[in-house]
Amino acid sequence: MRKELLKTVKRVVIKIGSRVLTDSAGALDMAVIGRICGEIAILHQKGLQVIVVSSGAIAAGRSELGLTDKPRTIPHKQAAAAVGQTRLMLAYEKSLAPNNLKAAQVLLTSEDLSSRQRFLNARATLNALLSFGIIPIINENDTVVVEEIKFGDNDNLSALVTNVAEADLLLILTDIEGFYSADPHTHPDAVLIPLINGVTREVERAAGGSGSTVGTGGMATKVAAAKKAGKNGVSTIMVSGKLNGIIVSALQGEDVGTLFLPSGIGLNRRKHWIAYTLKPSGRITVDDGARNALLKKGKSLLPSGVVKVEGRFERGACIRLYGLDGVEFARGLSDYSSAESVRLIGCNSTEIESILGYHYGDVLIHRDNLVLL
Ligand code: GLU
Repeated sequence: MRKELLKTVKRVVIKIGSRVLTDSAGALDMAVIGRICGEIAILHQKGLQVIVVSSGAIAAGRSELGLTDKPRTIPHKQAAAAVGQTRLMLAYEKSLAPNNLKAAQVLLTSEDLSSRQRFLNARATLNALLSFGIIPIINENDTVVVEEIKFGDNDNLSALVTNVAEADLLLILTDIEGFYSADPHTHPDAVLIPLINGVTREVERAAGGSGSTVGTGGMATKVAAAKKAGKNGVSTIMVSGKLNGIIVSALQGEDVGTLFLPSGIGLNRRKHWIAYTLKPSGRITVDDGARNALLKKGKSLLPSGVVKVEGRFERGACIRLYGLDGVEFARGLSDYSSAESVRLIGCNSTEIESILGYHYGDVLIHRDNLVLL
């Protein structure tokens, strides 16, 4: 299903975090930047338009200034950013050049994007740069912002840029392989979740939002970015930027990292996509009660109503739903794989955890991911 989605992507925003771009000593890691630029060139050759949102200015400035600690005061951060931003751009220029690509520096503040005129101006500039085949490298204009008007973090900035640039996808490169059920540093049994069907409160809580006990460093801002991008119908993929070939794999629709699908406003576009674009890979037959609940009462599909599961599919796959009469009446995205679904046939939702040893929620197919035919 990812492949179908990725086929429609023409313009992608790639957000690269400081921890991806720097080595253990905190200096810019030219080998990593070189590899990333090589992968960007492959996308570019395939006709994709790439916009980069890059952190790393403060980190690069810090090592340039010989500071051992992270700068704490705003003026020190701003001084580090001023020194580091030119180093950062030089690194991109040097690494793009062997691939016959050029970089352009675009520095933005949140004030720029909250003014409609400047917002549209930024959009026009990005369009012009892309039409010249140039790779825009965007960062916050750290040297002039003060705390009150900061974007806060580049995850947030990258989500806003998907809107400014009218991009189809946000790819977040970070130092962890995706979104986990719990913080993998402290929970060795945490599992990577390949698909998030819309960012819910539950997801936000697991990411370390308010009330969380399993906060993962920096995960909350990434999930917030995915949610924000999703409001415009834009999907987000989060992967580890440390892995070789990961950018190309992600854009080819391979099952890497975590894919966050939009919810809310993007829903109609998404339902259309579920019903018409995705190729169904499995088949679930339900009893009359469940069929009725789905068709007439707007309910989600629970395991209790399932009588048969056929085909092999992964969590997040598109499934055909059949009644006992053998007629297909709906399609939806499954929250459980075929292997898991088979084990859940006819069970009560409260038993899911005891049967599987974990659970992704009470339903097999959520209402929001279901289209009646
Ligand atoms: N703008 C900052 C920098 O380039 C990074 C902010 C962030 O990583 O969220 O150093």
